[in-house]
Amino acid sequence: MSVRVRIAPSPTGNLHIGTARTAVFNWLFARNQQGKFILRVEDTDIERSKVEYTENIKSGLAWLGLNWDEGPFFQTERLDKYRQAIQTLMDKGLAYPCYCTPEELEQMRETQKANNQAPRYDNRHRNLSAEQIAEFEAQGRKPVIRFKIEDDQQILWNDLVRGKVIWQGSDLGGDMVIARAAEGDSFGQPLYNLAVVVDDMDMDISHVIRGEDHIANTAKQILLYQALGGKVPEFAHTPLILNPEGKKLSKRDGVTSIDDFRKMGFVAPALVNYMTLLGWTSPDGEEIFTLDEAATKFSLERVNKAGAKFDWDKLDWINSQY
Ligand code: GLU
Repeated sequence: MSVRVRIAPSPTGNLHIGTARTAVFNWLFARNQQGKFILRVEDTDIERSKVEYTENIKSGLAWLGLNWDEGPFFQTERLDKYRQAIQTLMDKGLAYPCYCTPEELEQMRETQKANNQAPRYDNRHRNLSAEQIAEFEAQGRKPVIRFKIEDDQQILWNDLVRGKVIWQGSDLGGDMVIARAAEGDSFGQPLYNLAVVVDDMDMDISHVIRGEDHIANTAKQILLYQALGGKVPEFAHTPLILNPEGKKLSKRDGVTSIDDFRKMGFVAPALVNYMTLLGWTSPDGEEIFTLDEAATKFSLERVNKAGAKFDWDKLDWINSQY
C-alpha cells in the first residue's frame, strides 16, 4: 500500500504548536514509509479563515523543514465535490433536510437537561412528509442537511496508537449536520466531518494521524466513509500537548504559536527535535536528532497514549545543543 498522509489546518490562527507537532508526526511517517505528505487548507469557515493565517502556516511549516509533496489544496475550491457527496447521501436516503429553528433546538436541549439526559438532536425531522416539507418551505425556512446516525450502530477501529476503539452510535449526538442552512437553491456551507471525508477519499489518504481530540469525529467519519462507499483509512490519534499543570495547552498558556517560539530565539532544528519528542520516544533512547535521522527510526507504535507535558527546561536544553 502506498502511504499518503496529510495535515489539514484551518487557517483561523497562526501555526499552532499542536498543529505543527501533528505535521511533524505525519511528515516523519511519510518519510519513513517512502510515502507522500499532503497539505490541505480547511478554509470552509469563511468568516474565521484568513489568507494571512494560511501564509503563516505555510511559512511556519517551511521554516521547520516540513516540506509537503502535494498541495496546498483549498477546501473553498472544492465545494462542488462536497455538494455532490451531500446529494449522493440524500439520494441514498441517508441524509435529509432538517427545518428545526434555533429556538426549537434550544427547547429540545432544555427539555433534555430537565430530564437529566445528555443533549442530542432527537432526529425529529427524519421522516417528514412531502406536505410538512412544503409547509416549512412556504414559511421560508432554510433547512440544514443531516446525516443519519443509528443509535444501535457500533463503530470500531484498530487505532495505530490507542489499539481497539469502540463507539456506540447513541453516543454521537443524534443525526449530524453535514451542511449549514441552504443559500438559494444549493446546499449551504458543508461542515468539517463531511468535507474531510470527501477530501481524504479523493486524495487517497491511507493514514489519518491527528490529535486525540478528534476521536469522536473519527467515529462519525467512519460512518460517512461507509455511506459514501469509500475505503476507510487507518487512524492514529496522537496524545494532546499538555501545559505544565497537565491541562490541554491553550492560548491562555501564552506561547503557543510557532512564531512565538521563533521570536523567543529557538532555532528551527531544535524546535522540531523537541516536538518529535512530545509523545514519541526513539527506540535507541536518543534525544538529539535531525528530522531526517528521526525519520529513519519513526514508527507509530512508539507514540505514547498519555498526554505529552510541555517541558521548557528540556526545550532549552535541546536548543543549547544546536
Ligand atoms: N481542520 C482540522 C483541525 O485543524 C483538521 C483535523 C483533521 O486532521 O482531520 O483540527
